[in-house]
Amino acid sequence: IPLLLGTLFSAVYTYASRRRVARQSLPATFEWALKNNELEVFFQPIMDTDLGGPLGFELLLRWHHPAHGIISPMIFIPLAEQLGKIGALTDFVMETAIGFIQENPELMKSRYLAINISRQLLLDEHFAERVCRRCGRNQHLIRHLLLEVTEDLAFSDAEMDQAITQLHLLQQHGFRIAVDDFGTGYSGLDLLRRFPFDVVKIDKVFIKELLPEGNAVALLDSMIGLADGLGMVIIAEGVETAQQADSLLQRGVNHHQGFYYAKPMPQSALVAWLARSGA
Ligand code: C2E
Ligand code: CA
Ligand code: CA
Ligand code: CA
Repeated sequence: IPLLLGTLFSAVYTYASRRRVARQSLPATFEWALKNNELEVFFQPIMDTDLGGPLGFELLLRWHHPAHGIISPMIFIPLAEQLGKIGALTDFVMETAIGFIQENPELMKSRYLAINISRQLLLDEHFAERVCRRCGRNQHLIRHLLLEVTEDLAFSDAEMDQAITQLHLLQQHGFRIAVDDFGTGYSGLDLLRRFPFDVVKIDKVFIKELLPEGNAVALLDSMIGLADGLGMVIIAEGVETAQQADSLLQRGVNHHQGFYYAKPMPQSALVAWLARSGA
């Protein structure tokens, strides 16, 4: 309950700030948070049900605010995007990923870390170049990273061209690229036509309503057919129950991410989780 209240309070707080004049001080808040170690990267396993273990982990930001408690990324990520601070936050996630890969070669051997990339970053014509430089053009590192972008990549044709150019550059450098929250945007099919994604992450809304005769099932089956046809790897997001997992397996989808397997967890809990899960 305190946590919930904290989140609610900060939601109201950030909303109020956004509406008023606090724009000058809020960007500084993000810098302060980074400097003060208030931000933490959580890891959520992406399971390969054939292997019975994770084939990767998605990195998800958490903000431990000294006054407001844990603030959800659903609240602070949009704010950071608006305030031009998403680059700094993403750099922090990237640094964490690189450090983790270098420090855990055994654990990471055939696994990847998935990083969320805001559309805004792809509108920077130097983004791909900067990410490559950050990775020291190290193919070993690059092969262990999956970059996730959402369907709402662009608001105009010019933006779309720019974003796609960056994605091509990244893919040419060896990064794998995923389309996130697939099925929830308006431009999904157009995007698939324009860019050869390696991975498609089917949004949790389609997994949630996996009732035998629901519309969601027909849509899910179409998306699976589409992804197969285009040679993309499918990850189902938001798998919460054994029934959902079974239903996905019957459809040949065996890469699952969701609370049924594991919630996002701090790095410190990861090794114990791996040992417990026998992976
Ligand atoms: P996302 O990229 O779609 O990440 C998956 C979200 O689904 C995470 O929420 C995760 O905790 C949640 N989730 C995982 N399994 C389940 C499940 O079985 N059921 C349900 N109901 N939810 C599940 P989280 O961590 O709150 O993150 C929310 C969003 O914030 C992310 O959605 C992503 O869009 C954004 N985000 C988080 N970290 C970053 C980041 O470093 N950069 C950017 N640009 N965005 C981030
Ligand atoms: Ca994601
Ligand atoms: Ca997602
Ligand atoms: Ca999302």
